[in-house]
Amino acid sequence: MITNSVKRGDIVFYDFGTKPDSDKNGLRPALVLQHDKFNTSSPTTIIAPIVPARKRKMCAHVLLEKSFGLLVDSMVFLEKMQIVDQEDIGNLIGHIDDPELMQLIDSTLVKVLNMKSVQGDSYLRLRVSTCQKKRKRRKKKKPAYNPRDIICLCPVCRNSYRHRGFRVINVGGPKDICDLCNYRTGVDYAVVGLLSR
Ligand SMILES: [Zn+2]
Repeated sequence: MITNSVKRGDIVFYDFGTKPDSDKNGLRPALVLQHDKFNTSSPTTIIAPIVPARKRKMCAHVLLEKSFGLLVDSMVFLEKMQIVDQEDIGNLIGHIDDPELMQLIDSTLVKVLNMKSVQGDSYLRLRVSTCQKKRKRRKKKKPAYNPRDIICLCPVCRNSYRHRGFRVINVGGPKDICDLCNYRTGVDYAVVGLLSR
């Protein structure tokens, strides 16, 4: 049992040291992501760096704005999460007490880690269907687009799929918030995975 352990949702100072990749270095705020169960039972925890918000935002970044003790508009880089010793954690800055924001962070983490077993997210349904179902389906006659392969994508996220070798076919529909970044608007696309070719 770790006394004075950090809590999930805490914003704390952490010294990220000096690495070649520039702007996530040095003493800066970080968000605690690890489950409190492990925060109290393990000497380590999992954090992600918080940096000043910028105009261009990746799917793995969540805006925290100027709140929870943060002095400037900020965003957390969830794809840069790392395991650290709790004894190296600095002072507490604040705590994210907004359940909706934590939910957004949770769903973004699910995407960052490509976890397939969680339900209720169209991106995950897509991943499950491309990874598991299409393998079975290859022997059968190929149907038109499986509705479960259709997700709403903004132009940026659509291009990121294309660059990774997926076929992305516009199936129209009304404009909506992008399922991948939850940020920009887009339309529905059928995403055909590499496995089904
Ligand atoms: Zn997007």
